[in-house]
Amino acid sequence: MTDFLPFALPEIGEEEIAEVVDSLRSGWVTTGPKAKRFEEQFAEFLGDSSCQAISVNSATSGLHLALEALGIGPGDEVIVPTYTFTATAEVVRYLGATPVFVDVDSATFNMTADSFVAAITDKTKAVMPVHFAGLACEMDAIIKVAKEHGIRIVEDAAHALPTRYKGKLIGTLDSDFTVFSFYANKTMTTGEGGMVVTRDAELAKRCRIMRLHGISRDAFDRYTSTKPAWFYEIVAPGFKYNMPDIAAAIGIHQLKRLPAFQVRRSEMAAYYNKAFSGLPLLLPAFPASDCEHAWHLYPVRLEPEAGVARDVFIQKMADEGIGCSVHFIPLHLQPYWRDTYALTPEMFPNAHAAYEIEVSLPLYTKMTVADQERVICAVKKVLSCG
Ligand SMILES: *Cc1c(COP(=O)(O)O)cnc(C)c1O
Repeated sequence: MTDFLPFALPEIGEEEIAEVVDSLRSGWVTTGPKAKRFEEQFAEFLGDSSCQAISVNSATSGLHLALEALGIGPGDEVIVPTYTFTATAEVVRYLGATPVFVDVDSATFNMTADSFVAAITDKTKAVMPVHFAGLACEMDAIIKVAKEHGIRIVEDAAHALPTRYKGKLIGTLDSDFTVFSFYANKTMTTGEGGMVVTRDAELAKRCRIMRLHGISRDAFDRYTSTKPAWFYEIVAPGFKYNMPDIAAAIGIHQLKRLPAFQVRRSEMAAYYNKAFSGLPLLLPAFPASDCEHAWHLYPVRLEPEAGVARDVFIQKMADEGIGCSVHFIPLHLQPYWRDTYALTPEMFPNAHAAYEIEVSLPLYTKMTVADQERVICAVKKVLSCG
């Protein structure tokens, strides 16, 4: 019996391991020189010298910091797609504001400028586009609408590293914030972690302060600056969202490997596309020629001719030793969001239809060609197309 192929696995190399060991031996395990280096390298990676990168302990923390820095609070509305992970919307609630859920495009599963416009009220303060699976939203149109209405933009780029939109990396577009995730199953990992990116120096400063208890200088500065080491000032009731050096140590090396990871993921997506053409599957939306997909996920949809319900398909794939997943159970179906905001499937026809037939197949760099062949064989068998 062959091993079970999990839905996702990180690719951690000897360099990451050695760097973590180095942190442990150095005695500096929390936020310090490596977190700073990781931030600098991340900003360099984006290739836009006006971008500041602020490391945090998760993308969720980062999204919270971004909205906080923008002054979002009670009475404000923030537009989010229903087709996302709960983190996108929950940070709106952390601040006492109201998430307003919108439907997505049926090909890309992304929020559109049209769905955004339709949800704008005089209370709308921000919009949070999610680049689903690693394919960019139609950002030109979304940015145009946001600017016309004075609405701030916080991109949830948890899937979008590295993603290019019309030649530009996500993180360098004309939005207020972009937040990346380094959770274990994302395109690169630090175990847990995230990066907040902004080109606004004041917003960056606020995030740096709020990420560590509202202290006006972070621990690293505190121990290296000329001021006495014991001195600090609290300027706000901040949070505990800093990234430890142990995590940054992993990130420094993952980031170096990210371009190669992206090439491999793209090859794997193309390999799947070829193998699945002609099967009763709707394949993931493909990027335009001036765009680049991060391929965090490989989402397919079962067409009616597949003759198998999504839940049965996933069970049968598991019986074949293949882990699959679903992205996402839309927020309008989650009890808290559904009941608090009286959400119904009829309000989100595209997202709802997508959810009912969506399956995410395993796609990660640790998979071998043989692993991918196993997935393809299992899909064909379950669809009785072998
Ligand atoms: C993973 C994810 C997040 C949260 O990332 P964390 O780093 O785990 O906080 C937010 N939004 C989306 C769309 C995600 O997939």
